[in-house]
This record gives sequence, structure tokens and C-alpha cells, in this order.
Amino acid sequence: MRVVVAIDGPAAAGKSTVAKRVAEIKGYTYIDTGAMYRAFTWYCLQKGVDCQDEKACVALIPEVKIELKPGHVVLCNGIDVSTDIRQTNVSANVSYIASYKDIRLALVDLQRKMAESSSVIMDGRDIGTYVLPNADVKIYQIASVETRAVRRYEENLSKGIACTLEEIEDDVRKRDYIDSHREFSPLKPAPDSILLDTSFMSIEEVVNAVIEKIDNKIKEKNLG
Ligand code: C5P
Repeated sequence: MRVVVAIDGPAAAGKSTVAKRVAEIKGYTYIDTGAMYRAFTWYCLQKGVDCQDEKACVALIPEVKIELKPGHVVLCNGIDVSTDIRQTNVSANVSYIASYKDIRLALVDLQRKMAESSSVIMDGRDIGTYVLPNADVKIYQIASVETRAVRRYEENLSKGIACTLEEIEDDVRKRDYIDSHREFSPLKPAPDSILLDTSFMSIEEVVNAVIEKIDNKIKEKNLG
């Protein structure tokens, strides 16, 4: 039976860590949609295009090819950008890029195609509301902004990405604001999503909670 899982929520809520683990355990394909917006942003920056100039960024759509490969490798026009897209200059600009409708439509098209054939777990901001509205399980994962900033700060340090805690907290607040206030497909919980506040939960506890929701859904479907 094919299962489709959507995980949405604000920046640095631990969505991708949880989604990757659940994907490994259940044998599902993991699709990191944030990485796709980041790769597009990386390309604009490489080209020297101002990420706040919508027209100039949208004009680049035909020349950008984004691919997600096994092992969480992200390719942009064949170049491995997996590490570069996590750098602070990309984080600082990605929410502008993600607010442009034409860019979203192009990437959503790709995301839906990727989710067509196998069981998937996809994380982002609008998966349950817009990209996969018929997902079997929809999780909306949150945590306090302070908790999220500390988690992302520690993650960046472990990956050798230079940053300060203040910078990260500012970035998280700014992205959440832009992501939840954009006109097209903003960050918000789907009405049928399950809210998971992970502020005081370990990764293992969150993973187990998500797996329980998935297993319940599968039982329900088999019975129905
Ligand atoms: O998930 P991640 O934090 O890497 O996403 C980076 C940015 O990409 C988000 O802050 C948001 O602006 C954008 N995004 C989005 N819709 C998605 C996934 C990410 O707008 N489905």
C-alpha cells in the first residue's frame, strides 16, 4: 500500500531530521522541498541576481534544473550544492525566493512528480495544505523559537557552518514571518494536520509519534 506523509512547520523545527529517520525505518522516499528552494536561491546568488528582484529571479526558471539524489544529495544543474545551500547567505535569502508564485509553481510541479510512484515522506511549509492535500498523514511540527535556534546552531556547528546563535535566531524569526505572511501558499497548519510540539521531546520520541500516526492510518485504511 502506498503511503503519503506530509510534515510541515516553521524553520528549524526538526522536520527533516525526523522525516529522514522515519523514511529510513519505513522504507519511504524522503523529499526535502526546502532544499529545492535553497538550491534555486543558491543559483540566483551565483548569478549575482538580487533575490528581492522577483522579475529577475523568475526569469531564471528555465535555466535551473534541480535534482534530489540518494544520500540526501542536492544537484543544481548537475553541481552538488548539498553543503552550500545550508550556508547563511542562502538561508538569509531563501524566503524571498519562496514567496514568488512562479518559482513555487515550477518547484511544486516537480515535487508532485517525485511523489507519484512510491511511498513518500515530504517536508516543507505547504505540503499538507497545497502540494499533497490528500496526504494520508499530515504532521505540523513546532517548537519554541529559542529551542529551534539552539538546535539549528548546534547542527550548523557540527557541519562546520560558521554562525552565531543570535544570527540563527534572527534568521529563524525572519523566515517564519515571511513564510507565514506571503500571499501564495503560506506556512500554516492544514485543518486536518496533527500538531506535534517537540520543544520538550527527543528526536526518538518524535519519530516514534510520527510512526504511530502512520501505522494507525494504515490500519484504518486496511479496515476501510
Ligand atoms: O526547510 P528549510 O528550512 O530548509 O526551507 C528553507 C526555506 O524554503 C523556508 O524558510 C521557506 O522559505 C522555503 N520553503 C517553502 N516551502 C516549502 C519548503 C521550504 O516556502 N515547501
